[in-house]
Amino acid sequence: MNDVTKSPILFLKPVLKQMVWGGSRLHEVFGYETDADNVGECWGIAAHPNGDSSINCEKFHERFSNLTLSALWKKEPKLFGDYDTAQFPLLIKIIDAKSDLSIQVHPDDAYAAREENGSLGKMECWYIIDCPEDAVLVVGHNAKTKEELEEMVQEGKWDELIRKVPIKKGDFIQIDPGTVHAITAGCLILETQQNSDITYRLYDYGRKVDGKLRELHIKQSLDVIQVPAKSAKDSVMGTLDLPKNQMNQLISCQYYNVYKLVVSGRCLVPNHESFLNMSVLEGNGLIDGVSIRKGDHFIIPANYGEVRIEGELVIIASTAN
Ligand code: ZN
Repeated sequence: MNDVTKSPILFLKPVLKQMVWGGSRLHEVFGYETDADNVGECWGIAAHPNGDSSINCEKFHERFSNLTLSALWKKEPKLFGDYDTAQFPLLIKIIDAKSDLSIQVHPDDAYAAREENGSLGKMECWYIIDCPEDAVLVVGHNAKTKEELEEMVQEGKWDELIRKVPIKKGDFIQIDPGTVHAITAGCLILETQQNSDITYRLYDYGRKVDGKLRELHIKQSLDVIQVPAKSAKDSVMGTLDLPKNQMNQLISCQYYNVYKLVVSGRCLVPNHESFLNMSVLEGNGLIDGVSIRKGDHFIIPANYGEVRIEGELVIIASTAN
């Protein structure tokens, strides 16, 4: 058990977001409480003005009662390892796409700072929790030059432009800023991203929502799309054969490190000097004696010490850089 001086693990209450493309699996598969039938996103670890998780006091002390993650970040910086950023740096979501999402692209920090009132850009990555057989995602495009890209967009040659890559359960995909991308119908995805909500919509399949086309951001998209795109084969990584009971690093980039941890029996996670985010995607078990199950999101404080996890679990974890 924890000694009393140790900061407890921070369990979070997620924020659920209704989306036109959302489904019912966040409720049915993960058990999040909602009456809505089009919940597209669960913001599991979030400290953003558009969604701020609160600390779950049922599992823990009054020290944190009624605090949001963004408030705790300011109030108790030592819990997180004294980062020098004003905002909690990452955002962890589970996304349930009942229908195709629009085709979009995110800016990098420099473009967002200049064009979006000092916002952060957005780098993100996806872990495929579940998807239909023969599923494809939109990752990248087929234009070889900026001129070709502009021509294909202006002339609406979407089938030629958009690059689809096959995926299966357990795949991991890094989406750099400037990468054209879209999640497709039937995919259930854990997304780890920079703490930003800036998205440019390039194409929406001509669909109408409540009788209207949704706004597109063609100029901004053309400004930020990277040409040529990263190769398709470098974009997707399988993770089903990784060893159990250890932190397997899936990516390390400027903003985050993401790990997959499959626990079978018992495992010890070493101390981290920075805080460690965890989201349970499958199974149930115990973390330092506290029960955890599919759908739980929590943060292990900086310098917490070794963590003992028992049970049968699939966890995606991350640290900030
Ligand atoms: Zn995105």
